[in-house]
Amino acid sequence: AAPKTGGLLDGLDAEQREAAAVEGGPLLIIAGPGTGKTRTLTHRIAHLVAERGVPPEECLAITFTRRAAEEMAERLTALAPRHAPALTIATFHSLGVSILREQHERVGLSPRFGIADRARQVAIAAELTGDEREARRLLARMSALRRAGETDPQPEPDDFADRYTKALREQDLVDFDDLVALPAALLEADPALAAAYRDRYRWISVDEYQDVDAQQYRLLRLLAPPDGNITAIGDPDQAIYRFRGSDVGFFLRFQQDFPGARTIRLTRNYRSAPAILTGAAGVVAPATLVPGRELRPMGEHGDALIGVHQAAGEQAEAAFVARTIERLLGGASFHSLDSGRVDSDGAGGLGFSDFAVLYRTDRQARAVMSALTQAGLPFQKRSHDLLLDRPGVRELVAELAYAPAAPGDPAGRAGGPAGDADSAARPVAITERLRRAAATLIDRLPAAELQERAAEIHSAMELLRPLAEKCGDDVERFHAELALGVEVDTWDPRADRISLLTLHASKGLEFPVVFIVGCEDGLLPLRWGGSRGDGSGGPGDEEADEQVREERRLMFVGMTRAQRHLYLTHAAERSRNGAAAKATPSPFLADIPSDVCERLGESAPRRKPRDTQLRLL
Ligand code: ATP
Ligand code: MG
Repeated sequence: AAPKTGGLLDGLDAEQREAAAVEGGPLLIIAGPGTGKTRTLTHRIAHLVAERGVPPEECLAITFTRRAAEEMAERLTALAPRHAPALTIATFHSLGVSILREQHERVGLSPRFGIADRARQVAIAAELTGDEREARRLLARMSALRRAGETDPQPEPDDFADRYTKALREQDLVDFDDLVALPAALLEADPALAAAYRDRYRWISVDEYQDVDAQQYRLLRLLAPPDGNITAIGDPDQAIYRFRGSDVGFFLRFQQDFPGARTIRLTRNYRSAPAILTGAAGVVAPATLVPGRELRPMGEHGDALIGVHQAAGEQAEAAFVARTIERLLGGASFHSLDSGRVDSDGAGGLGFSDFAVLYRTDRQARAVMSALTQAGLPFQKRSHDLLLDRPGVRELVAELAYAPAAPGDPAGRAGGPAGDADSAARPVAITERLRRAAATLIDRLPAAELQERAAEIHSAMELLRPLAEKCGDDVERFHAELALGVEVDTWDPRADRISLLTLHASKGLEFPVVFIVGCEDGLLPLRWGGSRGDGSGGPGDEEADEQVREERRLMFVGMTRAQRHLYLTHAAERSRNGAAAKATPSPFLADIPSDVCERLGESAPRRKPRDTQLRLL
């Protein structure tokens, strides 16, 4: 019988409630997309702290991206407003940073240590090798070894890693990989320290556990004893970060690592129309790591079939996407509306933010963007550029050091960096300091550059503003977050715009209407042009097979983002390296059962007459 609860478990079904109400000890929640894993985890934490008396300071929730952490923090604030501020909601990297800030002395860092970005890493390594290309190769190799679990990776020449690390520390820096590996090494070497952290975080949960890598796993094992209160949630079939060192094997051996763990499966899918689930299951089947699993659609999202469309070329494909969005926005409902219900799209209730266009490689976005622009449809593309590499950003951040940190500080350069002035006066918010730094930079511009460079500095200011506002007057945090949040992510889940995302970036999200463009052999699965830059050379057969399986899982992730409508498009011809080349449909399309998809012609999507009647009523 379902346990009686006070309210926070009310929005969950019986399986989810069982998982959320587990008292303690190791718990593994293994379930497919859209089964409410993230929702269950969030409600579980809220329930523990608000209804079970678990101290929120003892709760650590680890998510995969900063975006996911923010979202979880937001939901927990809504569910358990009094307790949420005391919870720790982190990514592995931000958790690592906070451990290192506390333990900086033990690793020979100052409390204000910096995090080297890519450019800085390469510069430091190139100084040692005398050659930038070689520097990049060695860094990539070292990173790959480390993420695969080597604690002391030594690529040839074998003193490179030591010299690189020494140079890094001399500049009071750590690199991105250090953020997890260093705290792990620290806790490993000092059992008393590890015990202290275990004591602090007695309740640990990890979302998207299928994508942990060796160092993250190592840190987690140090933080969670074998009989600890650890909840791991994930879906092996959504493991898509192997190329970055993730290893789904850690998920699969949870039972061995945490003996006596309870395993709970969630089987109801609340996200997608039935055809979408059937089609996605067909695609992932040859690569599945959880054969025969149940995923029952709850049937709340209509009964549309998957639309498959072949366009002549990339532009035509993008035009099809734009046209289809326009029609759906206009209230035209074309897929089977036989459920007898007037659903939101039939009634024209869709907004721009209900659409997402997904692609395998970032460059495919260009054609889509121009088609949407032409159609006057607003969109936002999730960018993967480094924030620090955007024009003007580095300059502005550097100038920040000279902007007064407290009222009464001498403005300008006299007295050197004012960032750490211990003035008794109230510190100045970073936003304000950035504003002044921008004004100083603009003042100094020569007249000839004024127009163009001023605009650049203003836009840099706008890019930095959200982070600055979040950090208030905590400059240290601002710098740390800047180095951590390496990507410009102006993508706003609440903006009323069409979303453009890579398949990887779509993980965890959902949209009523999803397009996956470029469903072609060579893009899905992606064929890597030559070596992947880690010195490993071309993949062997075994490796190539595994890569294709991972691409299947990636397509599965993309397809299962869709709630009501899913469109898979491909072009007959696509330009490669500037020249048009014949393209063949993705072999994955053939794995979609034919009764759940329909081919849409050039003039499609088709409309059903019944639809008109509905709207006449
Ligand atoms: P993914 O594997 O893609 O991360 P997930 O398993 O984490 O998916 P959620 O994102 O938590 O799934 O939930 C998917 C959708 O289903 C959300 O919109 C969520 O609000 C909804 N949902 C989950 N459980 C229920 C429920 N019991 N009743 C109604 N809606 C639910
Ligand atoms: Mg999720």
